[in-house]
Amino acid sequence: MSSLSLYDTLTRTTAAFVSIKEGEVGIYLCGATVQAPPHIGHVRSGVNFDILRRWLSHSGYNVTFIRNVTDIDDKILHKAVHEELPWWAVAMKYEREFSEAYAALNVLAPTYEPRATGHITQMIGLMQILIEKGAAYAPGNGDVYLEVRKLSSYLTLSRQKLDDLQPAADAEATSSEKKDPRDFALWKAAKPGDPSWPTPWGPGRPGWHLECSAMAHQYLGETFDIHGGGLDLIFPHHENEIAQSEAAGYGFAQRWMHNAWVTTSGEKMSKSLGNSLQVHELLKSVRGIELRWYLGSAHYRSMLEFSHEALAESATAFKRIEGFLNRSVEILSVVPTPVINEAFTDAMNDDLAVPTALASISESLKVGNNAITAGDKAVIAQAANEIRGALSILGCDPFDPAYATSGNSDELVAALDGVIALALEQRTAARERRDFAASDSIRDGLASLGIIIEDTAQGPRWSITGNGSR
Ligand SMILES: [Zn+2]
Repeated sequence: MSSLSLYDTLTRTTAAFVSIKEGEVGIYLCGATVQAPPHIGHVRSGVNFDILRRWLSHSGYNVTFIRNVTDIDDKILHKAVHEELPWWAVAMKYEREFSEAYAALNVLAPTYEPRATGHITQMIGLMQILIEKGAAYAPGNGDVYLEVRKLSSYLTLSRQKLDDLQPAADAEATSSEKKDPRDFALWKAAKPGDPSWPTPWGPGRPGWHLECSAMAHQYLGETFDIHGGGLDLIFPHHENEIAQSEAAGYGFAQRWMHNAWVTTSGEKMSKSLGNSLQVHELLKSVRGIELRWYLGSAHYRSMLEFSHEALAESATAFKRIEGFLNRSVEILSVVPTPVINEAFTDAMNDDLAVPTALASISESLKVGNNAITAGDKAVIAQAANEIRGALSILGCDPFDPAYATSGNSDELVAALDGVIALALEQRTAARERRDFAASDSIRDGLASLGIIIEDTAQGPRWSITGNGSR
Protein backbone atom coordinates (compact mmCIF):
# COMPACT_ATOMS: atom_id res chain seq x y z
CA MET A 1 0.00 0.00 0.00
CA SER A 2 1.39 3.40 -0.97
CA SER A 3 1.54 6.35 1.40
CA LEU A 4 0.72 9.97 0.74
CA SER A 5 3.24 12.27 -0.93
CA LEU A 6 2.48 15.91 -1.67
CA TYR A 7 4.25 18.64 -3.58
CA ASP A 8 5.61 21.52 -1.53
CA THR A 9 5.94 24.90 -3.26
CA LEU A 10 8.65 25.94 -0.78
CA THR A 11 11.04 23.07 -1.66
CA ARG A 12 9.67 22.55 -5.22
CA THR A 13 9.68 18.80 -4.54
CA THR A 14 7.14 16.07 -3.83
CA ALA A 15 7.80 14.41 -0.49
CA ALA A 16 6.08 12.13 2.03
CA PHE A 17 3.39 13.90 4.02
CA VAL A 18 3.93 13.61 7.77
CA SER A 19 1.54 15.53 9.99
CA ILE A 20 2.80 17.50 12.98
CA LYS A 21 0.44 15.69 15.32
CA GLU A 22 -0.39 12.06 14.62
CA GLY A 23 -3.84 11.65 13.12
CA GLU A 24 -4.48 15.40 12.88
CA VAL A 25 -4.08 17.83 9.99
CA GLY A 26 -4.54 21.58 10.07
CA ILE A 27 -5.12 23.32 6.72
CA TYR A 28 -5.42 27.04 6.07
CA LEU A 29 -6.76 28.03 2.66
CA CYS A 30 -6.92 31.66 1.58
CA GLY A 31 -10.56 32.29 0.74
CA ALA A 32 -12.36 34.90 -1.28
CA THR A 33 -12.23 38.66 -1.20
CA VAL A 34 -15.98 39.10 -1.38
CA GLN A 35 -16.31 41.91 -3.90
CA ALA A 36 -17.86 40.26 -6.99
CA PRO A 37 -19.84 37.15 -7.94
CA PRO A 38 -17.69 34.01 -8.00
CA HIS A 39 -16.46 32.77 -11.37
CA ILE A 40 -14.93 29.34 -11.91
CA GLY A 41 -11.40 30.71 -11.51
CA HIS A 42 -12.33 31.66 -7.95
CA VAL A 43 -13.86 28.34 -6.96
CA ARG A 44 -11.23 26.05 -8.47
CA SER A 45 -9.10 26.26 -5.34
CA GLY A 46 -12.18 25.46 -3.24
CA VAL A 47 -12.72 22.28 -5.29
CA ASN A 48 -9.03 21.28 -5.40
CA PHE A 49 -8.49 21.67 -1.68
CA ASP A 50 -11.80 19.96 -0.94
CA ILE A 51 -10.46 16.89 -2.77
CA LEU A 52 -7.29 17.10 -0.64
CA ARG A 53 -9.40 17.39 2.51
CA ARG A 54 -11.60 14.41 1.57
CA TRP A 55 -8.54 12.32 0.75
CA LEU A 56 -6.87 13.17 4.07
CA SER A 57 -10.10 12.31 5.93
CA HIS A 58 -10.32 9.02 4.05
CA SER A 59 -6.66 8.37 4.95
CA GLY A 60 -7.59 8.53 8.62
CA TYR A 61 -6.77 12.11 9.57
CA ASN A 62 -9.00 14.38 11.58
CA VAL A 63 -8.84 17.52 9.43
CA THR A 64 -9.30 21.07 10.74
CA PHE A 65 -9.96 23.14 7.65
CA ILE A 66 -9.89 26.95 7.76
CA ARG A 67 -10.95 29.10 4.84
CA ASN A 68 -11.16 32.81 5.57
CA VAL A 69 -13.40 35.51 4.16
CA THR A 70 -11.72 38.83 3.32
CA ASP A 71 -14.60 41.17 4.01
CA ILE A 72 -12.70 44.47 4.18
CA ASP A 73 -10.47 45.56 1.30
CA ASP A 74 -9.94 48.40 -1.18
CA LYS A 75 -11.91 46.55 -3.87
CA ILE A 76 -14.90 46.11 -1.55
CA LEU A 77 -14.83 49.82 -0.68
CA HIS A 78 -14.70 50.75 -4.38
CA LYS A 79 -17.58 48.40 -5.12
CA ALA A 80 -19.62 49.91 -2.28
CA VAL A 81 -19.28 53.36 -3.85
CA HIS A 82 -20.19 51.93 -7.26
CA GLU A 83 -23.23 49.99 -5.98
CA GLU A 84 -24.27 52.77 -3.57
CA LEU A 85 -24.38 50.33 -0.68
CA PRO A 86 -22.62 50.21 2.69
CA TRP A 87 -19.37 48.24 2.42
CA TRP A 88 -20.68 45.54 4.75
CA ALA A 89 -23.74 45.03 2.56
CA VAL A 90 -21.47 44.45 -0.46
CA ALA A 91 -19.32 42.02 1.52
CA MET A 92 -22.33 40.07 2.82
CA LYS A 93 -23.98 39.92 -0.61
CA TYR A 94 -20.94 38.38 -2.29
CA GLU A 95 -20.05 36.19 0.68
CA ARG A 96 -23.52 34.61 0.28
CA GLU A 97 -22.93 34.14 -3.45
CA PHE A 98 -19.64 32.38 -2.74
CA SER A 99 -21.30 30.17 -0.11
CA GLU A 100 -24.01 29.24 -2.61
CA ALA A 101 -21.42 28.45 -5.31
CA TYR A 102 -19.39 26.26 -2.93
CA ALA A 103 -22.57 24.47 -1.85
CA ALA A 104 -23.67 23.89 -5.47
CA LEU A 105 -20.26 22.32 -6.11
CA ASN A 106 -20.49 20.19 -2.94
CA VAL A 107 -17.41 21.83 -1.39
CA LEU A 108 -17.61 20.87 2.28
CA ALA A 109 -18.11 23.79 4.66
CA PRO A 110 -14.83 24.71 6.40
CA THR A 111 -14.42 23.71 10.03
CA TYR A 112 -14.22 27.45 10.72
CA GLU A 113 -14.74 30.27 8.25
CA PRO A 114 -13.39 33.41 9.93
CA ARG A 115 -14.02 36.89 8.59
CA ALA A 116 -11.26 39.49 8.68
CA THR A 117 -13.43 42.09 10.42
CA GLY A 118 -14.13 39.64 13.23
CA HIS A 119 -10.40 39.37 14.08
CA ILE A 120 -9.21 42.96 14.46
CA THR A 121 -8.26 42.26 18.10
CA GLN A 122 -5.99 39.39 17.04
CA MET A 123 -4.44 41.55 14.31
CA ILE A 124 -3.66 44.36 16.77
CA GLY A 125 -2.12 41.77 19.13
CA LEU A 126 0.08 40.45 16.32
CA MET A 127 1.21 43.96 15.36
CA GLN A 128 2.13 44.66 19.00
CA ILE A 129 4.32 41.55 19.05
CA LEU A 130 5.96 42.55 15.74
CA ILE A 131 6.69 46.09 16.96
CA GLU A 132 8.07 44.79 20.29
CA LYS A 133 10.36 42.42 18.39
CA GLY A 134 11.58 45.27 16.19
CA ALA A 135 10.21 43.69 13.00
CA ALA A 136 7.51 46.30 12.41
CA TYR A 137 7.23 50.05 12.92
CA ALA A 138 4.56 52.73 13.17
CA PRO A 139 5.88 55.95 11.63
CA GLY A 140 3.24 58.01 13.44
CA ASN A 141 0.82 58.66 10.57
CA GLY A 142 -1.46 55.78 11.59
CA ASP A 143 0.13 53.20 9.26
CA VAL A 144 2.07 50.19 10.52
CA TYR A 145 4.71 48.57 8.27
CA LEU A 146 6.73 45.38 8.29
CA GLU A 147 10.43 46.01 7.78
CA VAL A 148 11.28 43.41 5.17
CA ARG A 149 15.06 43.92 5.04
CA LYS A 150 15.35 42.54 8.58
CA LEU A 151 13.99 39.15 7.55
CA SER A 152 16.57 36.72 6.21
CA SER A 153 13.92 34.28 4.96
CA TYR A 154 11.85 36.86 3.08
CA LEU A 155 11.05 35.81 -0.52
CA THR A 156 12.22 32.18 -0.16
CA LEU A 157 8.80 30.86 -1.25
CA SER A 158 8.81 32.84 -4.50
CA ARG A 159 12.62 32.58 -4.84
CA GLN A 160 13.16 36.25 -5.51
CA LYS A 161 15.91 38.60 -4.35
CA LEU A 162 14.92 41.62 -2.30
CA ASP A 163 17.15 43.88 -4.36
CA ASP A 164 15.31 42.87 -7.54
CA LEU A 165 11.96 43.66 -5.98
CA GLN A 166 9.86 46.64 -6.99
CA PRO A 167 8.22 48.74 -4.24
CA ALA A 168 5.06 47.18 -2.79
CA ALA A 169 1.85 47.88 -4.67
CA ASP A 170 0.37 49.63 -1.64
CA ALA A 171 3.16 52.22 -1.75
CA GLU A 172 0.68 55.01 -2.62
CA ALA A 173 1.29 58.45 -1.16
CA THR A 174 2.48 57.13 2.17
CA SER A 175 5.66 55.61 0.81
CA SER A 176 7.69 58.53 2.16
CA GLU A 177 6.86 57.24 5.63
CA LYS A 178 8.47 53.87 4.89
CA LYS A 179 12.02 53.00 5.86
CA ASP A 180 12.28 51.01 2.64
CA PRO A 181 9.88 51.32 -0.31
CA ARG A 182 9.48 47.52 -0.28
CA ASP A 183 8.16 47.45 3.29
CA PHE A 184 4.50 46.48 3.22
CA ALA A 185 1.54 47.80 5.20
CA LEU A 186 0.22 45.69 8.08
CA TRP A 187 -2.27 48.41 8.86
CA LYS A 188 -3.51 51.44 6.94
CA ALA A 189 -4.46 54.75 8.55
CA ALA A 190 -8.10 55.71 8.10
CA LYS A 191 -8.96 57.88 5.14
CA PRO A 192 -11.93 60.25 5.46
CA GLY A 193 -15.18 58.35 4.95
CA ASP A 194 -13.59 54.90 5.05
CA PRO A 195 -14.41 52.36 7.76
CA SER A 196 -11.89 52.21 10.59
CA TRP A 197 -11.14 50.50 13.87
CA PRO A 198 -9.25 52.05 16.82
CA THR A 199 -5.67 50.90 17.49
CA PRO A 200 -2.82 52.19 19.68
CA TRP A 201 -1.44 53.82 16.50
CA GLY A 202 -4.64 55.55 15.49
CA PRO A 203 -7.83 54.52 13.65
CA GLY A 204 -7.45 52.50 10.48
CA ARG A 205 -8.06 49.20 8.77
CA PRO A 206 -6.01 46.08 8.09
CA GLY A 207 -3.76 45.57 5.11
CA TRP A 208 -4.72 42.42 3.23
CA HIS A 209 -1.95 40.10 4.45
CA LEU A 210 -2.27 40.58 8.21
CA GLU A 211 -5.60 38.80 8.60
CA CYS A 212 -4.33 35.41 7.41
CA SER A 213 -1.40 35.36 9.85
CA ALA A 214 -3.71 36.39 12.70
CA MET A 215 -6.49 33.93 11.86
CA ALA A 216 -4.19 30.97 11.10
CA HIS A 217 -2.65 31.52 14.55
CA GLN A 218 -6.06 31.82 16.20
CA TYR A 219 -7.47 28.57 14.79
CA LEU A 220 -4.43 26.39 14.00
CA GLY A 221 -1.78 27.59 16.44
CA GLU A 222 1.81 28.73 15.90
CA THR A 223 2.66 25.89 13.53
CA PHE A 224 0.31 23.94 11.27
CA ASP A 225 0.50 21.41 8.46
CA ILE A 226 -0.64 22.86 5.13
CA HIS A 227 -1.22 26.33 3.76
CA GLY A 228 -2.99 26.54 0.43
CA GLY A 229 -4.15 29.01 -2.18
CA GLY A 230 -4.00 29.91 -5.85
CA LEU A 231 -0.64 30.27 -7.62
CA ASP A 232 -1.08 34.04 -7.87
CA LEU A 233 -1.02 34.32 -4.08
CA ILE A 234 2.60 33.13 -3.71
CA PHE A 235 3.79 36.71 -4.04
CA PRO A 236 3.15 39.04 -2.38
CA HIS A 237 0.40 37.58 -0.20
CA HIS A 238 1.98 34.34 1.02
CA GLU A 239 5.48 35.80 1.27
CA ASN A 240 4.03 38.53 3.47
CA GLU A 241 2.08 36.05 5.59
CA ILE A 242 5.32 34.12 6.17
CA ALA A 243 7.17 37.33 7.01
CA GLN A 244 4.56 38.40 9.58
CA SER A 245 4.21 35.02 11.25
CA GLU A 246 7.91 34.09 11.33
CA ALA A 247 8.91 37.52 12.60
CA ALA A 248 6.41 36.99 15.43
CA GLY A 249 8.25 33.78 16.30
CA TYR A 250 5.75 31.30 14.88
CA GLY A 251 6.73 28.22 12.88
CA PHE A 252 3.73 28.83 10.59
CA ALA A 253 2.96 26.51 7.64
CA GLN A 254 5.03 23.33 7.28
CA ARG A 255 4.00 22.86 3.66
CA TRP A 256 2.74 25.13 0.89
CA MET A 257 0.34 23.92 -1.78
CA HIS A 258 -0.86 26.03 -4.71
CA ASN A 259 -3.48 25.28 -7.31
CA ALA A 260 -3.06 26.45 -10.90
CA TRP A 261 -5.48 28.74 -12.69
CA VAL A 262 -8.45 28.31 -14.93
CA THR A 263 -7.20 29.89 -18.15
CA THR A 264 -8.83 31.23 -21.29
CA SER A 265 -6.55 31.39 -24.35
CA GLY A 266 -3.69 30.44 -22.08
CA GLU A 267 -4.12 33.45 -19.78
CA LYS A 268 -5.46 33.68 -16.25
CA MET A 269 -9.18 34.36 -16.55
CA SER A 270 -9.79 38.06 -16.78
CA LYS A 271 -12.61 39.81 -15.06
CA SER A 272 -14.30 40.85 -18.30
CA LEU A 273 -14.48 37.24 -19.45
CA GLY A 274 -15.52 36.27 -15.96
CA ASN A 275 -19.12 37.42 -16.37
CA SER A 276 -20.12 34.53 -18.62
CA LEU A 277 -18.03 32.18 -16.52
CA GLN A 278 -19.69 33.02 -13.24
CA VAL A 279 -20.68 29.90 -11.39
CA HIS A 280 -24.40 30.70 -11.37
CA GLU A 281 -24.32 31.34 -15.15
CA LEU A 282 -22.57 28.04 -15.91
CA LEU A 283 -25.02 26.19 -13.67
CA LYS A 284 -27.73 27.06 -16.19
CA SER A 285 -26.08 24.72 -18.71
CA VAL A 286 -24.61 22.00 -16.48
CA ARG A 287 -25.43 20.60 -13.06
CA GLY A 288 -23.26 21.38 -10.04
CA ILE A 289 -21.94 17.81 -9.98
CA GLU A 290 -20.88 18.13 -13.64
CA LEU A 291 -19.16 21.49 -13.12
CA ARG A 292 -17.31 20.07 -10.14
CA TRP A 293 -16.29 16.99 -12.15
CA TYR A 294 -14.88 19.29 -14.82
CA LEU A 295 -13.03 21.58 -12.38
CA GLY A 296 -11.63 18.66 -10.42
CA SER A 297 -10.59 16.57 -13.43
CA ALA A 298 -7.27 18.33 -14.14
CA HIS A 299 -4.31 17.91 -11.81
CA TYR A 300 -4.47 20.73 -9.27
CA ARG A 301 -1.04 22.01 -10.35
CA SER A 302 -1.97 22.04 -14.06
CA MET A 303 -3.63 24.95 -15.77
CA LEU A 304 -7.20 24.20 -16.83
CA GLU A 305 -7.94 25.80 -20.19
CA PHE A 306 -11.64 26.56 -20.19
CA SER A 307 -13.98 26.15 -23.12
CA HIS A 308 -17.71 25.56 -23.22
CA GLU A 309 -17.06 22.58 -25.54
CA ALA A 310 -14.66 20.99 -23.05
CA LEU A 311 -17.16 21.53 -20.24
CA ALA A 312 -19.95 19.93 -22.30
CA GLU A 313 -17.74 16.95 -23.22
CA SER A 314 -16.76 16.51 -19.61
CA ALA A 315 -20.43 16.59 -18.55
CA THR A 316 -21.26 13.94 -21.17
CA ALA A 317 -18.42 11.73 -19.89
CA PHE A 318 -19.74 12.12 -16.37
CA LYS A 319 -23.28 11.18 -17.45
CA ARG A 320 -21.90 7.92 -18.87
CA ILE A 321 -20.41 7.04 -15.47
CA GLU A 322 -23.61 8.07 -13.72
CA GLY A 323 -25.62 6.04 -16.24
CA PHE A 324 -23.64 2.92 -15.37
CA LEU A 325 -24.26 3.46 -11.64
CA ASN A 326 -28.01 3.87 -12.27
CA ARG A 327 -28.06 0.71 -14.42
CA SER A 328 -26.29 -1.17 -11.63
CA VAL A 329 -29.01 -0.08 -9.19
CA GLU A 330 -31.71 -1.28 -11.60
CA ILE A 331 -30.00 -4.65 -12.08
CA LEU A 332 -28.90 -5.26 -8.49
CA SER A 333 -31.70 -3.39 -6.67
CA VAL A 334 -29.12 -1.92 -4.33
CA VAL A 335 -27.23 1.39 -4.16
CA PRO A 336 -23.46 0.77 -4.50
CA THR A 337 -21.33 0.81 -1.34
CA PRO A 338 -18.28 3.09 -1.77
CA VAL A 339 -15.03 1.13 -2.03
CA ILE A 340 -11.63 2.72 -2.63
CA ASN A 341 -9.52 0.43 -4.79
CA GLU A 342 -5.75 0.21 -4.95
CA ALA A 343 -5.27 1.91 -8.33
CA PHE A 344 -7.26 4.94 -7.18
CA THR A 345 -5.39 4.99 -3.85
CA ASP A 346 -1.99 4.90 -5.53
CA ALA A 347 -2.96 7.75 -7.84
CA MET A 348 -4.29 9.97 -5.06
CA ASN A 349 -1.30 9.25 -2.84
CA ASP A 350 0.95 10.49 -5.65
CA ASP A 351 0.35 14.20 -5.04
CA LEU A 352 -3.38 13.83 -5.80
CA ALA A 353 -2.86 12.62 -9.37
CA VAL A 354 -6.52 12.93 -10.32
CA PRO A 355 -5.98 12.33 -14.09
CA THR A 356 -4.44 8.92 -13.24
CA ALA A 357 -7.27 8.31 -10.77
CA LEU A 358 -9.76 9.03 -13.56
CA ALA A 359 -8.08 6.39 -15.69
CA SER A 360 -8.77 3.89 -12.91
CA ILE A 361 -12.44 4.94 -12.94
CA SER A 362 -12.57 4.47 -16.74
CA GLU A 363 -11.12 0.99 -16.31
CA SER A 364 -13.78 0.08 -13.71
CA LEU A 365 -16.44 1.50 -16.03
CA LYS A 366 -15.25 -0.67 -18.92
CA VAL A 367 -15.22 -3.78 -16.73
CA GLY A 368 -18.66 -2.88 -15.32
CA ASN A 369 -20.28 -2.33 -18.74
CA ASN A 370 -18.84 -5.60 -20.05
CA ALA A 371 -20.27 -7.32 -16.97
CA ILE A 372 -23.72 -5.87 -17.75
CA THR A 373 -23.51 -7.42 -21.23
CA ALA A 374 -22.36 -10.72 -19.72
CA GLY A 375 -24.92 -10.57 -16.90
CA ASP A 376 -22.22 -11.00 -14.25
CA LYS A 377 -23.79 -9.41 -11.18
CA ALA A 378 -20.79 -9.85 -8.87
CA VAL A 379 -18.54 -7.96 -11.25
CA ILE A 380 -21.18 -5.27 -11.84
CA ALA A 381 -21.41 -4.76 -8.06
CA GLN A 382 -17.66 -4.54 -7.62
CA ALA A 383 -17.26 -2.01 -10.44
CA ALA A 384 -20.16 0.09 -9.16
CA ASN A 385 -18.77 0.08 -5.61
CA GLU A 386 -15.31 1.13 -6.79
CA ILE A 387 -16.66 3.87 -9.02
CA ARG A 388 -18.87 5.25 -6.27
CA GLY A 389 -15.92 5.16 -3.86
CA ALA A 390 -13.73 7.14 -6.25
CA LEU A 391 -16.51 9.63 -7.01
CA SER A 392 -17.10 10.21 -3.30
CA ILE A 393 -13.47 11.33 -2.81
CA LEU A 394 -13.75 13.61 -5.82
CA GLY A 395 -16.95 15.08 -4.34
CA CYS A 396 -18.98 13.80 -7.33
CA ASP A 397 -20.99 10.97 -5.80
CA PRO A 398 -24.43 11.16 -7.46
CA PHE A 399 -25.96 9.41 -4.43
CA ASP A 400 -24.59 12.09 -2.08
CA PRO A 401 -27.62 13.82 -0.48
CA ALA A 402 -25.81 17.13 -1.10
CA TYR A 403 -26.81 16.77 -4.75
CA ALA A 404 -30.35 15.57 -4.04
CA THR A 405 -32.05 18.95 -4.44
CA SER A 406 -30.04 20.27 -7.36
CA GLY A 407 -29.80 16.90 -9.14
CA ASN A 408 -32.21 15.67 -11.81
CA SER A 409 -33.59 19.15 -12.47
CA ASP A 410 -33.84 18.35 -16.20
CA GLU A 411 -35.99 15.33 -15.49
CA LEU A 412 -38.14 17.28 -13.05
CA VAL A 413 -38.73 20.02 -15.61
CA ALA A 414 -39.62 17.40 -18.23
CA ALA A 415 -42.10 15.72 -15.86
CA LEU A 416 -43.65 19.07 -14.87
CA ASP A 417 -43.91 20.01 -18.52
CA GLY A 418 -45.84 16.81 -19.18
CA VAL A 419 -48.24 17.38 -16.28
CA ILE A 420 -48.94 20.96 -17.32
CA ALA A 421 -49.46 19.90 -20.96
CA LEU A 422 -52.07 17.44 -19.69
CA ALA A 423 -53.87 20.20 -17.74
CA LEU A 424 -53.77 22.47 -20.80
CA GLU A 425 -55.30 19.77 -23.00
CA GLN A 426 -58.16 19.55 -20.52
CA ARG A 427 -58.52 23.33 -20.62
CA THR A 428 -58.61 23.36 -24.44
CA ALA A 429 -61.19 20.57 -24.42
CA ALA A 430 -63.31 22.52 -21.90
CA ARG A 431 -63.17 25.63 -24.08
CA GLU A 432 -64.15 23.68 -27.19
CA ARG A 433 -67.26 22.44 -25.45
CA ARG A 434 -67.82 26.05 -24.21
CA ASP A 435 -67.45 24.99 -20.56
CA PHE A 436 -65.75 28.24 -19.50
CA ALA A 437 -66.21 27.55 -15.78
CA ALA A 438 -64.07 24.41 -16.12
CA SER A 439 -61.50 26.15 -18.33
CA ASP A 440 -61.18 29.08 -15.88
CA SER A 441 -60.90 26.76 -12.93
CA ILE A 442 -57.95 24.94 -14.57
CA ARG A 443 -56.22 28.25 -15.31
CA ASP A 444 -56.86 29.57 -11.76
CA GLY A 445 -55.73 26.30 -10.25
CA LEU A 446 -52.41 26.52 -12.11
CA ALA A 447 -52.06 30.20 -11.16
CA SER A 448 -52.50 29.34 -7.48
CA LEU A 449 -49.46 27.05 -7.88
CA GLY A 450 -47.50 29.95 -9.36
CA ILE A 451 -47.82 28.61 -12.94
CA ILE A 452 -48.84 31.29 -15.41
CA ILE A 453 -50.39 30.34 -18.77
CA GLU A 454 -49.93 32.58 -21.77
CA ASP A 455 -51.84 31.92 -24.99
CA THR A 456 -49.51 32.43 -27.95
CA ALA A 457 -49.79 31.81 -31.69
CA GLN A 458 -47.80 28.60 -31.15
CA GLY A 459 -50.23 27.48 -28.45
CA PRO A 460 -50.26 27.95 -24.70
CA ARG A 461 -46.93 28.56 -22.91
CA TRP A 462 -46.27 28.23 -19.21
CA SER A 463 -43.89 29.84 -16.77
CA ILE A 464 -43.35 29.75 -13.01
CA THR A 465 -43.66 33.01 -11.08
CA GLY A 466 -42.60 31.52 -7.74
CA ASN A 467 -45.62 33.32 -6.21
CA GLY A 468 -47.83 30.30 -5.83
CA SER A 469 -50.22 30.32 -2.88
CA ARG A 470 -48.88 26.97 -1.64
ZN1 LIG B 1 -4.25 34.56 2.92
